[in-house]
Amino acid sequence: MSKYREFYRQSLDNIDQFWSDQARLIYWNKPFDRVLDYSKPPFARWFVGGQTNLCYNAIDRHLPNRASQNGLIYISTETGQKSHFTYQEMYREVNACALMLQELGVTRGDRVIIYMPMIPEAIFSVLACARIGAIHCIVFGGFAASSLAIRIDDSSPKVMITADAGMRGGRLIPYKPLINKALEIAKRPPGKVVLYDRGLDEKLDRKTGKQFDYDALIKKHLGKNLEPVWLESEDPSYISYTSGTTGVPKGVQRDTGGHAVALAASMKHIYCGEAGETMFTTSDIGWVVGHSYIIYGPLLAGMTTIVYEGLPVRPDPGVWWQIVEQHKVSVMFSSPTAVRVLKKESQDYITRYNLRSLKHLFLAGEPLDEPTHRWVSDALKIPVIDHFWQTETGWPMLTSIPGVEKTPIKFGSPSFPAYGYNLKILSEITGKEVGVNEKGVVTVVPPLPPGCMTTLWGDDKRFVETYFKDFESQLVYSTFDWGIRDQDGYHFILGRTDDVINVAGHRLGTREIEEALQSHANVIEVAVVGIKDQIKGQLPIAFAVLRDTKAIESVEKGLSHERDIIKEVVRKLGAIARPARLYFVEMLPKTRSGKLLRRSIQALAEGKDPGDLTTLEDPRALDAIIQILKEP
Ligand code: AMP
Repeated sequence: MSKYREFYRQSLDNIDQFWSDQARLIYWNKPFDRVLDYSKPPFARWFVGGQTNLCYNAIDRHLPNRASQNGLIYISTETGQKSHFTYQEMYREVNACALMLQELGVTRGDRVIIYMPMIPEAIFSVLACARIGAIHCIVFGGFAASSLAIRIDDSSPKVMITADAGMRGGRLIPYKPLINKALEIAKRPPGKVVLYDRGLDEKLDRKTGKQFDYDALIKKHLGKNLEPVWLESEDPSYISYTSGTTGVPKGVQRDTGGHAVALAASMKHIYCGEAGETMFTTSDIGWVVGHSYIIYGPLLAGMTTIVYEGLPVRPDPGVWWQIVEQHKVSVMFSSPTAVRVLKKESQDYITRYNLRSLKHLFLAGEPLDEPTHRWVSDALKIPVIDHFWQTETGWPMLTSIPGVEKTPIKFGSPSFPAYGYNLKILSEITGKEVGVNEKGVVTVVPPLPPGCMTTLWGDDKRFVETYFKDFESQLVYSTFDWGIRDQDGYHFILGRTDDVINVAGHRLGTREIEEALQSHANVIEVAVVGIKDQIKGQLPIAFAVLRDTKAIESVEKGLSHERDIIKEVVRKLGAIARPARLYFVEMLPKTRSGKLLRRSIQALAEGKDPGDLTTLEDPRALDAIIQILKEP
């Protein structure tokens, strides 16, 4: 491991040299004066004084050599649509979209909400924002109206770009009713809404339903070019909302220069993606993985990115591997949940294809269990790299770094700290580093490296208080994940330290789900916990105390009382947050100081020891839960 160790050491000991070397991977219109300004910890300013543009680096820079190479291949197994765009064609589309935004009054620093399914126009919109220095904020197309409204109010966008509908598993998800509702609830709705009409939603009123029609606006500008706006390195590029322990999502803000350098460096050292090759990231642009490795990462590297709309098992579980074969994918990035779904089927769905082009499969977003890691490695016969990161970091914190050294993989482990992260596992009690194989909280001694969040949108105070106050005596960034390091230096992630759960790689705050359930008139209080699930990693289940227990037997519009209450979650947060079960109880287990004992409930639900219960206010509350969970 000597090469990795040396590379890692350099990144921490010679920060300026290390990162100015990496910064050469992108184009700077004006060189930076300083690599790092860390005069106001924990706020880090990277590549101070430098000017660059993400869209220029992702598209324009490749035109001399790759104008006729595909930049984007689009495959939808939902609609059957396939298309591809060369770098030259992307340049044309993105310029037209940038001009459209300009026509709508969007200028540098304005926010644009993108609420779109996985279609090429979503990627063009993102790059168009980057081109003119507008800050994009993609909201996952599965979020419900009120989740969208919260994000609208926090980011106060000038324009929203959306589509008529998304599709999942063959089911149409009309966006317009949802958008209308979100605009109605939002206190600071965008002045203008542009709709890309896929022609999917038959009910859409095409005469009055569209305020601005994407196609019509774009047509006016096709063929015209717009010079990119040269942004300061530290200018925000985008906001991505993520769940935390409170009911209010946090707007993770990323800069421009640091973000570009970090992604370009990761493409070289971690993903080993070469210009001219193809990358297939199976995530959605609504999540951080999509931002980093469907859009920016592969395009910064001059690769072809595959944009896929659909499930991993439709029309059959071989669909992704067929894409790998057909498009000679060299880098693939997916999630443990997706692999667990495939694992229910025969390995033959993978092995029947010629996958010789594939160098690595990367997996992230949630813990990768050892059997799944083994199973997929066995099927692919290439290194399957588990790597650990967060919306906040934007690129991996723990990973194997095959571009530097091909270190052996240990099943179930995301290997080692990535360069730039001064990662420490600290004891929750003493705040000191734990020993080999001892459990502690995974932290990073700041400054966080380039590409990580620079603050929370509009809330520096919350940024510091949320992430840097976990340990009183020292300033460290907390990941809120438990971890251990073994005798060989390999790390293992053991789950969250806070009340956040991870369903199929999607982070959900238990508090958010509780608040949604509590908005039902008959719910007095409620506790949500995540329990282990074979496929999705975790699933939310809920325990509620009702105002009127007689209602338990009631049926509201064909729904049992349980389903009627759960409906609130789907309405407020979207189907991804839907609790698998809602149990009715007389009281919830709390400490004498009134703190909900979520961890004990979770332990019981998973058949484990509920831990220290000495502070429990009323033991009957837990007994009742034990009883309920025993029932079939
Ligand atoms: P998100 O910001 O939604 O990507 O979620 C980040 C969280 O997902 C982390 O804090 C971890 O709890 C979990 N996570 C991400 N990658 C991994 C991994 N490779 N192994 C274990 N947990 C992971």
